[in-house]
Amino acid sequence: MTDLDKLAAQREIGERIGVFAEAMHASETQELRELERQALEEGVPIIRPHTRGLIQCILEMAAPERILEIGTAVGYSALVMHTYAPGPCKIVTIEKDHARAAQARDNFARFGAEGITLMEGDAADILQELDGPFDFIFLDAAKGQYIRYLPDIIRLLPPGGVLLTDNVLKEGEILESKFVVKRRDRTIHKRMREYLTAISRDPRLRTVLMETGDGAALSVKRRI
Ligand code: SAM
Repeated sequence: MTDLDKLAAQREIGERIGVFAEAMHASETQELRELERQALEEGVPIIRPHTRGLIQCILEMAAPERILEIGTAVGYSALVMHTYAPGPCKIVTIEKDHARAAQARDNFARFGAEGITLMEGDAADILQELDGPFDFIFLDAAKGQYIRYLPDIIRLLPPGGVLLTDNVLKEGEILESKFVVKRRDRTIHKRMREYLTAISRDPRLRTVLMETGDGAALSVKRRI
């Protein structure tokens, strides 16, 4: 077996594990299932079931009282966090697309989710003005911008605070050399690599990269 064959076999196993793991996370409330179905039908990119499972575990472990989400879309993941937070919890979520923000507001009202505050605008501007701490930050917006948000994210996390970054592997493309990546995707590829290096090497964080969903990075702010 050549090295390339081994790589292909490993990738296939990785993909099969991914499909298996996603199938394990089928259960959720009827209301959330309906919202998920609607979002997928309208082509809105929302968290995958495996990522939802990871978020549910984080909520139980960290029992956050204040959550910050960057990238609301129509409010699905914010409502997952609202539904599964084990105790009283305030959620601030940021969305820059007006139509999506309006849909999210309607969904929050329909779910009676008064603990969720939507901030409409560009996360780069809003983050600078925000005061923390947020015990759990879920980063799920424009992948090329994550590196810009990092200084504010670290400022907003208390010691022991958790940062979950979604879609960090871009279907495995991030592992490839930039020369294999299509020219139009090279900037995002470079910035995501910079971001992953930064969260992995920053002495204030402990970070682990996972294959969850489309790749997730779990970071904890160290208690030093
Ligand atoms: N977290 C959502 C969920 O799982 O239900 C999905 C979020 S979707 C992947 C990413 C969202 O981030 C999009 O709705 C997009 O409009 C928003 N976004 C992109 N760049 C942004 C920015 N600079 N500031 C705020 N929101 C942004």
